[in-house]
Order: sequence, then structure tokens, then C-alpha cells
Amino acid sequence: MRAEQRPGENLLKSVRAFVEEEVKPSVSRLDLEDEYPQAHVDRMKELGLFGTLIPQEYGGMGLPLQDYARIIIELSRGWMSLAGILNSHFVAAWMIETFGTDHQRVGHLPRMATGEVRAAISMTEPHGGSDLQAIKTVAMREGEAFAIEGEKMWCTNGLHASLIMLLTKTDPKAVPRHKGMTTFVVEKRPGVHQQPGLEIPSLLEKLGYRGLEGTRMNWKGFRTPVSSALGGEEGIGLGFKQFMAGIEIGRINVAARAVGIALASYEAAMDWARTRTTFGKPIAEHQLIGAKLADMATRIRAAYLLTIEAARKKDAGERADLDAGAAKLFATELAEEAAFESMRIHGGAGYLQDADVARYYRDAPVLIIGEGSSEIQRIVIARRLVELAESGGSLI
Ligand SMILES: Cc1cc2nc3c(=O)[nH]c(=O)nc-3n(C[C@H](O)[C@H](O)[C@H](O)COP(=O)(O)OP(=O)(O)OC[C@H]3O[C@@H](n4cnc5c(N)ncnc54)[C@H](O)[C@@H]3O)c2cc1C
Repeated sequence: MRAEQRPGENLLKSVRAFVEEEVKPSVSRLDLEDEYPQAHVDRMKELGLFGTLIPQEYGGMGLPLQDYARIIIELSRGWMSLAGILNSHFVAAWMIETFGTDHQRVGHLPRMATGEVRAAISMTEPHGGSDLQAIKTVAMREGEAFAIEGEKMWCTNGLHASLIMLLTKTDPKAVPRHKGMTTFVVEKRPGVHQQPGLEIPSLLEKLGYRGLEGTRMNWKGFRTPVSSALGGEEGIGLGFKQFMAGIEIGRINVAARAVGIALASYEAAMDWARTRTTFGKPIAEHQLIGAKLADMATRIRAAYLLTIEAARKKDAGERADLDAGAAKLFATELAEEAAFESMRIHGGAGYLQDADVARYYRDAPVLIIGEGSSEIQRIVIARRLVELAESGGSLI
């Protein structure tokens, strides 16, 4: 599956070298110690990765999503957490580019493109993440500012980010509920747990996806200017729709991350199966192991193609909810299965805490949960399929 020569091909090569030479030798320690990979983030800045999707007029590279997906696959082959640092950053950047005012685009995108400003997205709350219209965090207007009150949960990059894409209710009584929801582009101090109106308690202890922080956020009267509503005054009440569109970028990232983990799992399994011998031959030559490798490889290729097709459609400005949902659903379920199969092929060696496959096994499940769980993807896909059938559209 060699990527053809594309504008992002040179960057892809640099990312591959970065992963092989810098990420792979350090990942086990960083993962086990749950240490923030500051040196890798600095290197990612140097490589220009924080500007990958940001248009050139704002200082980014303006690469298509297809190139971005390939870069995310490469990074995740080394360590999925690094791709997570980019995910929320680009969901936020895309939302600002697409729905922001000129002032917001010019004010935020150039600093985001260099990585000087890194962004997080915050929708989920302790009482739930799938039913986003049920959020309770409110933003109440007080003159030229909004005061934010509420509790958020699971904000990836929440501590290190200096810009938070925050989903709130500006009209909690609105019917339908989504009409009362507004996104704010909130600026905060990076790396601090306390600032006026915002507390970030101690970081969440996760099963996998380590090194990168997941945070709660307690908003207690935090004041943000009216001009920070995404899209300005006209964006008030559009937050839910803005997030639902932005999350498609996230779903492509998550699908690509899943392909990266599945590929790494497969490669580790293949290496092991070719060298580990039982009953007088390499285990790859036992048909039952060969069948596992064949299934894994076939499904990885399918997941890759689904992901690139979803990215291509989004690049072309076509409707991509079905494609992004299908790619995310298929690739993430595959990542979990491939990590488990790879561990089984490794036998006891795969069950050691510091084994790469053990990390894939701990990292993969979050991909099924975040950015809309598999259950939610099936709902999105089924709804779209009914629409397609009613309009006489074709599935392929
Ligand atoms: C490591 C990690 C990082 C995350 N990062 C972020 C982030 O950066 N920003 C952010 O906003 N959120 C983030 N999340 C939150 C994530 O998006 C939510 O966990 C996810 O949306 C699911 O929400 P929930 O955990 O509240 O589960 P719930 O919504 O309570 O769902 C529980 C279960 O019920 C199922 N379910 C829900 N509704 C239905 C239905 N209608 N039909 C069938 N089944 C249903 C779900 O699939 C799930 O299995 C992160 C989560 C994790 C674990």
C-alpha cells in the first residue's frame, strides 16, 4: 500500500524517520511512566506537524486530509498518543477556519500552525458524552462577556492546551435542545491547574493512551468575551452543528490512528511468527497462525481504504458522514481485534507490561469509545442509509 507521490510525501518520510529513530526507542518508558512527551512535541513543532491541515494563508501547509490521515497512521504505528495531541488541535483549527469570524481565523490559526498555541476540544461531561445535547455547562451573558459554569470531563490535551473549543448551553430551555448550544473559543493559560474561573484537578489515570493528559475541567464563573463565540454573535446557538461537522475530522483521525495500531500489531505479529518456532517450524507456517495473519492483513487494507476514501470525500467538500462513520467503526473495532490477536500470537511474551503489543492492547479500546462510540457510529450510519434508500441513492 505505497502512497503515491503527493504534496505531503516528503513530510510523511520525515514523520516515518522521526517515528523509527526517536519515538520507538522512547515509547515504552514514556508510556509506562505516563510522562508527557515534551521532546516529541517540540520535534513535531519543528516538523511543522501542527500546521499540517491549516491553510497556507495562515502559515500552515494546507495539506489535504488524505495526507493527514497517512501521517496519523505513521505516528500511531510508533505511538498513538502523539496522534492524539494533533487530533483535537485540528478539529479546533478546522472549526475556526470553517465557522470562525475573520478576526478569529487571523487571531488563532497562524499561532496554531506553528504549534505555539495548541488546542483541545471539550464537549463531554461527567454525566455523559454520547447525548451531547444533554450537557449542563452554561454560558450566561453578562454585558460584553459570557460567564461559564459547569463541569467537563475527558478533555484530552486539557492541561497543555492554551485554547479550548468549549461546547456550552447559552439557552438551556431551547427547543429543540441543540438550538441553545454555543461553542466558545476559550483562551486559557497552558500548564496550570488553577486560574481565575477554571480549575483542572489532578489528571485522570487511564488504562492506556498514556503520556497525554485527560482532564476534568471545573468552570466557575470563567469570563470569556462575546467575541469568543465561534462565528461571533451569529454563531450563538450553532455550537452543536459546528461540533458535529468538526467531529468528522476527528473521526478520520481516529480511524487513521486505528489503522496505525492495527498495522503495528500486524507487523509485530508477523515478525514474531517468522522467528518463533514450535513443533520444528516457524509459527507463521502453522496454518492456523497464517490464517490469523491473512485475516488481519486483509482487514487492515480494507480499513486503510475506507479511511482514505472518507478523507478524499471530505477534501472534495462532499458529504462524508457515512464514510467517516464507517471508517471509524470498522477501523477501531479492527484495531482492538488486531492488538488482541497479535498478543495471542506472541504468547506469554505479549503479556509483559513493556511489550509493544501489550501497549497496543491497552491503547486500542479508547478509539472505540471516543469521537462517538461504535454504537453511535452505527446509529449515524443507519440513519444515513435510510436517507439514501429513500432518495434512491446508491451505497457505492
Ligand atoms: C481517553 C479518552 C479521551 C477523550 N477525549 C475527549 C476529548 O478530548 N474531548 C471530549 O469532549 N471528550 C473526550 N472523551 C469522551 C468521549 O468522547 C466519551 O467518552 C464518549 O463520547 C462516550 O461518552 P461517555 O463516556 O459519557 O459514555 P455514555 O455516553 O454514557 O455511553 C455509555 C455506553 O452507552 C452507549 N450508548 C450511548 N447512547 C447510546 C444509544 N443511543 N444507543 C446505543 N448505545 C448507546 C455508548 O456507546 C457506550 O457504550 C474522551 C474519552 C476517553 C476515554
